[in-house]
Amino acid sequence: MARALPSADLSPADLRQRVAASGLRGRGGGQFPVGQKWRAVALEEGRRLVVANGAEGEPGSIKDRYVMTTRASRVLQGLALAARAVGAAEAIVYLKGSFAAAAAALQAARAEWDFGALRFEVRLGEESYIVGEETALLESLEGRRAWPRPKPPYPAAVGYQGRPTLVQNVETLSHVPAAIADPEAFRAAPPTLVSLWGHVARPGVYEVRLGTPIARLIEEQGGGAPDGVALVFPAGPSAAPLTAEKLETPLDAEALHSAGSGLGTASLLVVGRSSDPFSVLDSLAAFFERESCGQCPPCTVGTATLHRIASAVAAGTARPKDRSDFGEAASFMKDHGYCAHCRTAAAAVGALLARATGPASPARACRPFDSDSPERRAIEAVAAGFRGA
Ligand code: SF4
Repeated sequence: MARALPSADLSPADLRQRVAASGLRGRGGGQFPVGQKWRAVALEEGRRLVVANGAEGEPGSIKDRYVMTTRASRVLQGLALAARAVGAAEAIVYLKGSFAAAAAALQAARAEWDFGALRFEVRLGEESYIVGEETALLESLEGRRAWPRPKPPYPAAVGYQGRPTLVQNVETLSHVPAAIADPEAFRAAPPTLVSLWGHVARPGVYEVRLGTPIARLIEEQGGGAPDGVALVFPAGPSAAPLTAEKLETPLDAEALHSAGSGLGTASLLVVGRSSDPFSVLDSLAAFFERESCGQCPPCTVGTATLHRIASAVAAGTARPKDRSDFGEAASFMKDHGYCAHCRTAAAAVGALLARATGPASPARACRPFDSDSPERRAIEAVAAGFRGA
């Protein structure tokens, strides 16, 4: 017999108040306070709905697949509580088409709980990188090409089929039951999942407290970096890397921002000391050009320009003018684009270019952001193991 949902006796207002008190923030990259998001949707008139974003695509990130396959029941409890909190009678879980194991786990978990009148479905969608952006995901759900929408309006007001829509990452939803059950305890020690990949002994997904020093995470969870640490990208490609002197920085959005980086989806890449930083630079710039969806000229032209110059720097053929051209392109890109891809490319590639100075050491080429790199293959092999989890 299906079980009653925990906290089902709380009113929508109580649920919103408790999630706000817990301090829970989105784990999909933006760290937006969940309480504020729920309130914004609840205040809108119309047939509200909730969309769970399971279209994980950040290079190296496997934590959403982990949570959907091994904690499916928690994801669905969080989804049902979110729907109740914002007054939605309908929910959709959107996954990439290849995430069949996660879809099966979610379907199996749905039989465990009594969702009352809430209707929900699991949809397998497209494979592109950009579909993980919330408005691109909504476009895909509506049957169009997954291109991000200009904002505002935001999905809270105008989302799926023009309706007020709460789009929430699946890991975020998995934390909701604990956040609502005991907001103070959650605020005191907020858990988060990290996809740890690259040159560590044990790549994988780990649950840690926000605020854990990155050096400790690499040592205790990752088993250390056999080659030493040259760079850490705490947000995969989506923020500037930290150099080895900043490894004591806590895994925390504000602390990382102060250190000139960011948390993103906590897809934490470690680059060892014998890696050639210029090849990392070229791989990073190639990633942004490859994954630009093609909708905004400043992004398509800008990412191609950054990649051309990064390749020339990596090959040792850059002209002095290339660095000033790079600065001009990056500066223009910062204020353009319908989504964050354009400005993130400018910030992340620009920061790595600034750090990757000096002659290339007798180092190994390292292209972690290429889709078939050894680093990507190693972490994806961990994700493949979730099937039997
Ligand atoms: S900024 Fe880039 S990725 Fe984002 S919508 Fe525009 S072209 Fe697409």
